[in-house]
Amino acid sequence: MKTLLRMGAFMVSGILAVGSGTVAAGGNGQFGPSNPFYAPSALPLQAPPFDKIKDSDYQPAIEAGMAQQREEVRAIADNLDAPTFDNTIVALEKSGKLLNRVMAVFTGVTGANLNPTLEKLQEIEAPKLAAHQDAIYLDPKLFGRVEAIYKNREVLKLDPEALRLVEYDYEQFVHAGAKLSDSDKAELKKLNEEESTLSTAFTTKLLAATKAGAYVTKDRSALAGLSPARLEGAAQAATDRKVDGYVIPLQNTTQQPDLASLSQRSTRQTIFENSWNRAEHGDANDTRDIVARLAQLRAQKAKLLGFPDYAAWKLEDQMAKNPEAAFKFMDALAPGATAKAREEAKDIQALIDAQKGGFTLQPWDWNFYSEQVRKAKYDLDEEQIKPYFELNNVLQNGVFYAANQLYGLTFKERTDIPVYHPDVRVFDVFDADGKQLALWYCDYFKRDNKNGGAWMDVFVNQSKLLGTMPVVFNVANFSKPAPGQPALLSFSDVTTMFHEFGHALHGMFANTVYPSLSGTQVARDFVEFPSQFNEHWATYPAVFEHYAKHYQTGAPMPSDLAAKVKKAEKFNQGYAITEVVVAAQLDMLWHTLPSNAPLETPDDFEIKALRSKQLWISEVPSRYRSSYFAHIWGGGYSAGYYAYLWSEMLDDAAYQWFEDHGGMTRANGDRFRQMVLSRGNTQELGKMYAAWFGGEPGITPMLKYRGLLPEEKGK
Ligand SMILES: [Zn+2]
Repeated sequence: MKTLLRMGAFMVSGILAVGSGTVAAGGNGQFGPSNPFYAPSALPLQAPPFDKIKDSDYQPAIEAGMAQQREEVRAIADNLDAPTFDNTIVALEKSGKLLNRVMAVFTGVTGANLNPTLEKLQEIEAPKLAAHQDAIYLDPKLFGRVEAIYKNREVLKLDPEALRLVEYDYEQFVHAGAKLSDSDKAELKKLNEEESTLSTAFTTKLLAATKAGAYVTKDRSALAGLSPARLEGAAQAATDRKVDGYVIPLQNTTQQPDLASLSQRSTRQTIFENSWNRAEHGDANDTRDIVARLAQLRAQKAKLLGFPDYAAWKLEDQMAKNPEAAFKFMDALAPGATAKAREEAKDIQALIDAQKGGFTLQPWDWNFYSEQVRKAKYDLDEEQIKPYFELNNVLQNGVFYAANQLYGLTFKERTDIPVYHPDVRVFDVFDADGKQLALWYCDYFKRDNKNGGAWMDVFVNQSKLLGTMPVVFNVANFSKPAPGQPALLSFSDVTTMFHEFGHALHGMFANTVYPSLSGTQVARDFVEFPSQFNEHWATYPAVFEHYAKHYQTGAPMPSDLAAKVKKAEKFNQGYAITEVVVAAQLDMLWHTLPSNAPLETPDDFEIKALRSKQLWISEVPSRYRSSYFAHIWGGGYSAGYYAYLWSEMLDDAAYQWFEDHGGMTRANGDRFRQMVLSRGNTQELGKMYAAWFGGEPGITPMLKYRGLLPEEKGK
């Protein structure tokens, strides 16, 4: 739910992976065989040779990669032979290998282990890569060939995947502006470069703002309520930053996890306000001007491309198809969600009053008191359950175990594959027949030079055409334990592990010919379906019993406690879903501004927009404020945040299907893998889903699992 597929501004893989036309071809003087990106890696599955990669290797490889792809694309466009599937569509799939190779690693490392050199390089290359991509999509000769094949596609006797690729490529070209006039293309290129520059600047500023927003104190009593382990973590964070006392770094969301346990109201308020105002201090890290301009220029882009607003353009190739469908879906969810949140607020206010608090509930109070309501209602204490969720145990006996039971996978850690940071671990992934399926990396602990949240991406994309196998990684931001201590997770962290591993499975099961259609390269409102679906297994009895064991004694979680954990899953869901609906509406409202709208003031816009949807609820703020909404300004989720909710409809209906068909069995798992997880984007996604599911998904399972159905009320 809370997590991102990828944070990078670049999509790596497929033809358009990436690209730029403005770099002088002579700029790659230092690029040669000594560069570790020069040839495919000799490591297993072409894993990146992190032991050889230096910061200085990226730029020459990126520049040479763009130059190489430019030449390859030129040769395709200038080919004197009549356009064929092989000499055009397949040739495009084969182009840009060097660029894809370096960009997959560059995107991965800048997202998870940034340093000032790479940050600078990212700023330099982002607009060039945007221009490179435009140079390919907006090349009239190249488009002419793609269009000719597209028009002729019915008589070419293509296999279904090849036919899908032709249609996909054609739509991508048109979507990117291939049919525009030369002057409109020039205008579009300018806007794309500006967008890319601003988006990178947003990410950089936000990272600095989030770091600067950490709560710092020398007064231990201000942190009353924190567990000894968290207190030790806060002391360690201070040591890492070379300051005295304690540091509580900000997470990327509005709410901060420690607000659930900090008993001093003034501390909670300060941390909340640090979070809420992190990027609004009027200093160098203030992002509001960028936000306003990004919204405006995206609307201008949409107009050029012939759409009433950016969302209409963006959703054209999504499952929802248009903003009206997305709004309709969100509008249907909102009343139940906010009604439930209001009930929860009443419970919390009653508790505050019973304790003679003498104040009205504010957002910084919500988690502290809801945690008490949770304890009162379910007698559940986070600190009591964490010893049962030790990270490595959850990974091996939970996440891996579920993948074994459903799909027959097995895993073996290896220490001979180089990594970009000592916290990163690498595993061989074997299929049921014992053959290697993939390599999987995980990088779980929070670092200040890592983007917030959690995500999955690939270092190597699966493709039969290119002979590549998946090399996939998961990144998260779990609190790092003090040295020598075990990493004890909250249940929400456990869920995050299952979630990101669901994306990983989508990448690792990829079994397609063409790289552009492989793995997780599907519509935004479909891509969260496999990951959210995988979350369900975290509470599936046979899986839960297998991993929820005390890290010291090995004793299983007592059944009454386990029952409470599962029951508590439905607790606070009014708040949880409302903050996401608010964020999703905010995103869609920003991106349905018309092209002639004035430059907005983000703070005013936010209030006005959310009021128009009756979603300006002071005690339930958006999961992200506009000024730190990285998904939509820095990531790929512009006009796409609704996708988390949309995918939830898909995954809850899917899980219901499993429940109705015997639950966790290899037969069910294999069928799901065969019909969905291995298929990438090789079929129209709505049809793929319907063929597997046996019809259209509805909203009822989602309301049921969230505890929002009327009969669930009061339970
Ligand atoms: Zn996700």
